[in-house]
Amino acid sequence: MPLSLSDFQSFPKAELHRHIDGSVPLAVVQRLALQHGVTAVTLRDGRSISIADAAAFDAFYQIRATDSIPDLLARFDFVLSLMQTPDGIAEVFHACTQDCAAQNIWYVEWTMAPAYHTRAGLDYNTVIDSALRGMRSGWQACGVESKLILAIQREAAAGQKPEDARDPAGLALAGAALQHSSSRIAGLGLACDEFAFAPELYAAAFALTLGSALGRLPHAGEMGAQRAQNVRTAVTVLGATRIGHGIPVGADPQLIALLKQHGVALESNPLSNLQAGFISALEDLRLDELLRAGVCVSINSDDPALFRKDLADNFKAVFDLYDWGEQELVQFTKHALASAHLTAPQRAACVRSFSQKSGLMLA
Ligand SMILES: [Zn+2]
Repeated sequence: MPLSLSDFQSFPKAELHRHIDGSVPLAVVQRLALQHGVTAVTLRDGRSISIADAAAFDAFYQIRATDSIPDLLARFDFVLSLMQTPDGIAEVFHACTQDCAAQNIWYVEWTMAPAYHTRAGLDYNTVIDSALRGMRSGWQACGVESKLILAIQREAAAGQKPEDARDPAGLALAGAALQHSSSRIAGLGLACDEFAFAPELYAAAFALTLGSALGRLPHAGEMGAQRAQNVRTAVTVLGATRIGHGIPVGADPQLIALLKQHGVALESNPLSNLQAGFISALEDLRLDELLRAGVCVSINSDDPALFRKDLADNFKAVFDLYDWGEQELVQFTKHALASAHLTAPQRAACVRSFSQKSGLMLA
């Protein structure tokens, strides 16, 4: 008997690849907008949608395969417009942490690109402190453990060109991440436009974190013709400890061997890749081959609110594809906990808690 969507919803889950600005549930974003006095969103063509018009806002607030890049960015931009003050950032993290509890996601690593939150003059430290405040209050309210991945937003630096390898914004973010002593910071990430901004441009920023407690958690192999090479570069040049997406890995024995040789885990995002058009079918990810080969691969949702597909939907889609059951669910959960950015005592406590919640041994 195949596992049902509600089986996946009720199973205790861990997620390592969940962008904060793609995770705010529709009802929460409407509530926060009205609280902030924002009553409408203006589209590129000049049309205005009232936040109170539930059907029209619902239609706006989701990513479609037909979206152009500006359309897609407009959806993220609306959420980001609510996250330009310390309280706005903390409120979103608090609400999204509570949403994780509702989804039975008891451990989450949030990806945030601080450069997106400086439009009203906030500095990186204030952005990071505000996020940590919301995560802490969310944990106090519902018990969901969370960590923060500080992502270099590839194209954020004003006037930055692809050939500009100095990347001052990335270096500044790596510096801010290193200065923060909070154990809730998982590491340095790298997100967004992989077509134009190759991973090697950020080598100096990632090099700053070598020898520190921070993980190196770049997106690589999500988009573009160079994605196999970008995975290789992320491992061998950036010193990645995990790779976000890595679409070509499953079908490439050499990449599988490289990840295993370097002990690099993989965060797969099946429905995001499909809905964004970066794969034509879920089979393209070769998750069956990755499991067979012993790659430490986890299942993730990427931007669940905007794709309208949460972590349980991702599990359901790939498990239906391969007729997988409880054994594989345990395996993927073990992989997520094994590659989460946790100290040994934190990991042991997390595994104990997940085993209790699921009634299964996850050690
Ligand atoms: Zn992502």
